[in-house]
Amino acid sequence: PIKPWYIEGPVIKGFGRGSKMLGIPTANLSTEGYSAVLSEQRSGVYFGWAGLSTRGIYKMVMSVGWNPYFNNAEKTIEPWLLHEFGDDFYGEDLRLAVVGYIRPEANFPSLERLIEKIHEDRQIAETALEFPMYPGEVMRSSTNSGA
Ligand code: ADP
Ligand code: MG
Repeated sequence: PIKPWYIEGPVIKGFGRGSKMLGIPTANLSTEGYSAVLSEQRSGVYFGWAGLSTRGIYKMVMSVGWNPYFNNAEKTIEPWLLHEFGDDFYGEDLRLAVVGYIRPEANFPSLERLIEKIHEDRQIAETALEFPMYPGEVMRSSTNSGA
């Protein structure tokens, strides 16, 4: 188990690779103001809860880091909300309560393998977040001020 951490901000545009290339949309969060948090947290795949102010609270699995497969220059925060939305929510306020760590970042020999692995990660997150030790209430009780 990890010490939960919290970040919040508007959903910004990424490279458009999540849903278009992988069939896996990731809501990119601005990393502005979070350089301290980010350097503290090792890169890799995490899971937790995501709150969208006007919609609700959802399970999420997310990548934090440089995405070795795409070789990004900037560290990004990219949660995949485990819910089917009918539309996009760019600009909406997204709050994340990060409660668990799955694995470090890794490179993959093919896009198919990367996608396979992400689905494995999703399954781990789905299952883990059913346990009472990871209550969704963490979203309501936190102020998301980094506490
Ligand atoms: P970008 O590179 O701009 O982040 P993506 O292809 O990763 O584009 O798609 C992410 C966008 O899709 C999010 O910003 C959000 O508006 C929308 N979206 C729709 N459903 C989801 C979901 N289940 N999880 C995350 N984002 C979603
Ligand atoms: Mg994205």
